[in-house]
Amino acid sequence: MGLVKNFFIALSNNTFLNTTAKKVGPSLGANKVVAGNQLPDIVRTIKRLNEKNIAGTVDILGEFVHNRQEAIDAKNEILEVMKVLHENNLDAHMSIKLSQLGIEFDRALAYDNVYEIVNTAKSYNNMHINFDTEKYDSLFDVTQTLDRLKSEFTNVGTVIQAYLFKADVLLDKYPDLRLRLVKGAYKESPHIAYQTKDEIDQNYIRLIEKRLLQAKNFTSIATHDHNIINHVKAFAEEHHIDKSKFEFQMLYGFRTELAEQIAKEGYHFTIYVPYGDDWFGYFMRRLAERPQNLTLAFKEFVKPKTLAVLGGAAVVGTLLGLIRKKSKCNKQNETKSQHQRCIKTL
Ligand SMILES: Cc1cc2nc3c(=O)[nH]c(=O)nc-3n(C[C@H](O)[C@H](O)[C@H](O)COP(=O)(O)OP(=O)(O)OC[C@H]3O[C@@H](n4cnc5c(N)ncnc54)[C@H](O)[C@@H]3O)c2cc1C
Repeated sequence: MGLVKNFFIALSNNTFLNTTAKKVGPSLGANKVVAGNQLPDIVRTIKRLNEKNIAGTVDILGEFVHNRQEAIDAKNEILEVMKVLHENNLDAHMSIKLSQLGIEFDRALAYDNVYEIVNTAKSYNNMHINFDTEKYDSLFDVTQTLDRLKSEFTNVGTVIQAYLFKADVLLDKYPDLRLRLVKGAYKESPHIAYQTKDEIDQNYIRLIEKRLLQAKNFTSIATHDHNIINHVKAFAEEHHIDKSKFEFQMLYGFRTELAEQIAKEGYHFTIYVPYGDDWFGYFMRRLAERPQNLTLAFKEFVKPKTLAVLGGAAVVGTLLGLIRKKSKCNKQNETKSQHQRCIKTL
């Protein structure tokens, strides 16, 4: 992992910076990639997308959930947004993370939270609920939860991370579920995941092709990579795979023109729309993924007000954090929670 990537990942995990940024609000350049923190913001954003024949999948940002009340608050916020999407008749669904709903400290509570969300979504015209995938060590939680829910609900699905050696197993396990296919955003060990861009791209393409040929449900191909997108278009045409069977997805604020052009070509398209106060970690991870993303927001990000609040703390916090994290992550016998703090990324 490069130094620049490490730098932004360290920023994303810095509790002090996340808390401070939360108070300042998502108006520091991050508003280009986060759709606000008030309900009217999300309604306005999704409406604008829908007018362009683009659907939305809403992610309520939440970085640090440590106790029951925070997990319940996160669930209530998700329910509130779902209600607003439904009442406004918007073409949108939800992307949720089990970590946000308490799975790291109370599995029963997390399941109750998820169940309430999925059950409520069912009553909203079977609104889809996607379980985003996070670190590999939380993957079992996702599959276990899905396995419990999928006999009762048809509005659940998850994400396949192509960098995982195990991706095929998951793909084969869920041909009947709606799935999103991604390259994968977390730092994983070479024992469980491909490390180079070439290997990951190749496996991604192979999995997409396999899925498109065998799927019994809708497939979302979530990437900003025009080479992959062009490959998928050609493959679908060659194999007579109807456009109704799959879609492309991108993150809000990235490659907007390309997204709109693809939607105009008649492909289904969904934009992943992050919403809420906890914008800082998400924003830093997008910079870690692609430092060129800095140009998206650079002018606003370096406004004096922003720098005054975050600048000094960022430098000191990050350097200290990097040093501490490096030594922690390097320890072979680290505890699960240390390990998660070290490497949590998306
Ligand atoms: C909708 C959505 C949902 C996701 N959900 C998850 C999830 O649940 N779990 C998970 O682990 N990961 C998730 N991810 C992240 C994903 O795994 C990748 O980390 C992320 O999408 C970066 O990979 P990429 O395929 O977009 O292209 P990259 O490999 O980052 O880029 C490939 C090439 O595409 C071009 N490109 C990329 N971005 C841009 C840009 N902004 N402007 C111009 N050119 C560009 C460049 O030529 C670049 O070299 C999600 C991604 C999306 C889009």
